[in-house]
This record gives sequence, structure tokens and C-alpha cells, in this order.
Amino acid sequence: MVGLARRQCALAIGRTDSSGPRAGVAVALFTRDLRVHDNVVLSGALADARTVVPLFVLDDAILSSGFNRPNRAHFLAESLSGLDVMLRERGGRLVLRRGDVAEECARVAAEAGATVVHMAADVSGYARSRQRRLADRLRVDAVDLELHDDALFVVAPGAITPNNGDHMAVFTPYFRRWAQHSRRRVLPAPAGVPLPPEVGGTELPTGEQICPGDTSPDRLAGGEQEARARMSDWLTDGISTYDEQHDALGEDRTSRLSPYLHFGCLSALELVERAQQVPGAGPRDYVRQVAWRDFHGQVLAARPDSTRLDYRPRGDQWAADPAEVAAWKAGRTGYPIVDAGMRQLAREGWMHNRARLIVAHFLCKTLYADWRIGAQHFADLLVDGDTANNTMNWQWVAGTGTDTRFNRTYNVVLQARRHDPAGRYVRRHVPELAGLDDAYVHEPWLLPEDVRDTLDYPDPIVDQVAARERLRAGRPRTT
Ligand code: FAD
Repeated sequence: MVGLARRQCALAIGRTDSSGPRAGVAVALFTRDLRVHDNVVLSGALADARTVVPLFVLDDAILSSGFNRPNRAHFLAESLSGLDVMLRERGGRLVLRRGDVAEECARVAAEAGATVVHMAADVSGYARSRQRRLADRLRVDAVDLELHDDALFVVAPGAITPNNGDHMAVFTPYFRRWAQHSRRRVLPAPAGVPLPPEVGGTELPTGEQICPGDTSPDRLAGGEQEARARMSDWLTDGISTYDEQHDALGEDRTSRLSPYLHFGCLSALELVERAQQVPGAGPRDYVRQVAWRDFHGQVLAARPDSTRLDYRPRGDQWAADPAEVAAWKAGRTGYPIVDAGMRQLAREGWMHNRARLIVAHFLCKTLYADWRIGAQHFADLLVDGDTANNTMNWQWVAGTGTDTRFNRTYNVVLQARRHDPAGRYVRRHVPELAGLDDAYVHEPWLLPEDVRDTLDYPDPIVDQVAARERLRAGRPRTT
């Protein structure tokens, strides 16, 4: 058969020796599955053919888009180089090309004499149109494209649907079914990756070559080796207290595995399976949190225009004041917990989830600025910046997404006192306030004026009560 096939993995991977490989050469086209452990694309290609070309194409369309940013570019370069090391340890290497993915992949397939390409199915509108173009282009040369639906998620998008729709719009019922859903088995890293002779590629890129510009000084380093070391540490020392500590900003006790999951240096399925081997409430809550990733993936797959359009329009008359938005980006709003989050983002290219919720709420509901402004700023800096998770979380906080209590508002000072009671998070990221007593660290405006004047720290840029009125006036729908 020539053309596009979709696999829930078992097909190719379960092929036994007696049936033998159907192709002489296959291409394993890596995208954001930059690993050798539990990689259905690589294992599928190896089961299908005697020799395999492990290929990554630096996609010109992404490189020239607003999504190509230094933090992720450097993480990507490190992850490609880590993948190359893993492949070389198995007798292979990573073949790198740059250009249009469909054209470059077809060219490599022709050079190597490959008759099948394996690739992970992805969810964004761009990824899906790229998959269609690739299938069309390969068909011209009589090459099959095998798309693996379960490469990037624990449960494939579209595998769980309601009776009367194409996706689940509320997390809790989704999660109930997700937890019961059957899963494929976790695949070991292949022992060998035999290459066909004579397939050329260019040198692996540096981060600077992918996207010039400054990176966050305390950014996490990419690569499967780093991912696996972090996963092991997390499972032995961290996950067991996740139920109690995941919101404790000062303690910083979350896994920080999100960039590795985004680039696929780590398999979400393997992470979940291994987490479920650890007893207790911590692993149970952790697995539930990882399921949000699948949830948002299946929403975006069904509604790819959610990156631009409100998932549930509320008739908003967004009222962003550019000076207020600039203060938010700079971490100079005068609300210490908000500023701490924004400065962590700039410094690390990552932010704690509770802080993301607070700063996003502050932008959308206190400053009443369009969530798209915030999502773009996050995408500019986050190493884990992910189309599905970023968009759908921003929409969730803004009240235009899947949150069923879309008009909820928080008092950021109460949030700060609850999740950073000793002010450790604020002191870590806002050094101007490091010397303040606990009573003032979240509310420096309560200090006597002469003391306040000695701090290089702004007064609050908005009054929270007045801000709530602005939201009510601008958002006609309240129920
Ligand atoms: P942990 O608490 O250790 O959680 C483990 C894993 O579960 C994470 O690595 C992540 O893959 C997944 N996860 C946790 N929370 C969520 C969630 N709410 N939605 C989806 N997956 C989740 N996450 C991204 O990966 N990329 C983004 O671009 C992104 N943008 C966000 C924007 C906003 C406004 C908000 C509120 C959240 C966003 N998140 C995003 C979700 C979440 O904040 C991060 O996944 C989490 O902070 C990553 O840190 P961690 O790995 O230590 O998480």
C-alpha cells in the first residue's frame, strides 16, 4: 500500500521476526520526540526495515516564525546533540537537514532508497497541515507515511470522545476515562540502529544558529540524558510529597520536566507508568497533573484555531493599557508575587505553575488585557512553550477556555500569603524586597512612606477592586 497510514503503534512494533521487515530502508523522522527510549517512531521504523535513517529537519517555516525563540532554540540544539550521542552509541547517527520538511524528507528517502517514513502525529494546525503535505509529497515517489498517534501523548488525542462531539471539553470527566484507558507498552531503547550507506546531512546546529539572541541565564539544559537523570531523581526524591507541595512556591517542589516533555526528550507514557509504580498520594496527584497535557492536546487537535480565537467567546472588550502591560512583562507591577513570577520567567525561561496562574490572572482579569498578549510573551520566553498547553492554559485563566467557572477572580495578595507564606519565593526573585519582614513582603505599600522611599520598587500600578469593576464592565457575559 502506498500512502498515509495511522498507527496506534502495536502494528509496527509488534511485528515479529517471522513476518520480517517489509522494507529495505525506512526513515524515522524525528519532530518533538527527541529520544531513543520509548520512541514508537524509531522502534516502528526499525521493525519495518533492515536499515533506518534517523532524520531531523530544521523546518524553515518554524525557524522564520514568531515561535522560534532563543531559549527553545538552545534547548533544541542540546536535545539534537544528545539524540545524536544516543544514536551513535547504537551504531547510528542523526542525519540533519534544513528546509521544507516535506521536500527534505522526500529527498532523503530517495537518496537512501527508503520506501516508508515513520513520524509522530501532532496536534497543532500547522503540524497537521505539514503531515498532509508530507504524505502528498511522499505519495508522488511511492513512499508510505506511517503516522503514530500515540507517540507524543499517554492517550492519543481523539481516543476519548463524548457521545455527541469530537473532544472532551471538561477535564474531570476526561480524566476519569483517561485513567481507565488502555495503553500501549513502554518500549525499550533499541540495541542497534543500523544505517544504510551514504546518506549525507549537515552538521548539527548550535542554538545561536537556530535563533540568534540572548537566552535566560538560568535556563535548563536540553537532552534525553538530562531528562532521564531528572526523571530518576524526581521519582526517588520529590514525587512522594507532590500532593502537599505542588503549590508551595517557596519550596519549589515540582518536577521541572515540562521542557523535556515538550521536546520529547522524555516519553510522557514512560513517566506516567513509572510514577504509578511509586505508592502514595503524591504520585497519584502527579499523574493527574500530567493528564492535563493530554487533555489540552485533544482540545487543540479538535479546535486548532484556538491559538487565535476564543474557545468560548465571552464578548470581551479587552482594555489593555500598554504601560501596564509593559510593567507586567518587566516584573514591575508593584505586586511582589506577580513580579516574582515574571522575573523567574525572564531569568529561567520557566515559571512555577502556581505563579503562572497568578501572573496570567493578573494580566487577563486585573489588567483586563487580551490573553493573546500574555500567551505570546510566554511563548517568547518559556523553554517548555507549547502550543497546546500555553494556549489552552491562557484561555482557561482568561475565562474564554474550558474553565467552567470562567468569571472567578483571585485576590493576588491572598494567593501570595497562601502559597508563599514566608515570602521565600518573592525574596528569591525580587531582591529589592529581600530584607523586608514577613508582614510587608507581599504588601510593601503598607510600609511607612520614608521606608518605602528607600526601596527601588514601584507602587501598585492598579487598584485590585477598581480593576474588578473594569472586568465586569468590559465582559458582558457573567454567567
Ligand atoms: P509539574 O507540576 O511537575 O507537572 C508535571 C507535568 O504535567 C508538567 O511537566 C506538564 O507536562 C504537565 N502539566 C502540569 N500542569 C499542566 C497544565 N496546567 N497544563 C498542561 N500540562 C500540565 N505547560 C507547558 O508545558 N507549556 C506551556 O507553554 C505552558 N504554558 C502555561 C501557561 C499558563 C498561563 C499556565 C497557567 C500554565 C501553563 N503550563 C504550560 C502548564 C504548567 O504551568 C507547566 O506545565 C508546569 O508549570 C511545568 O512545570 P513542572 O514540569 O515542574 O510541572
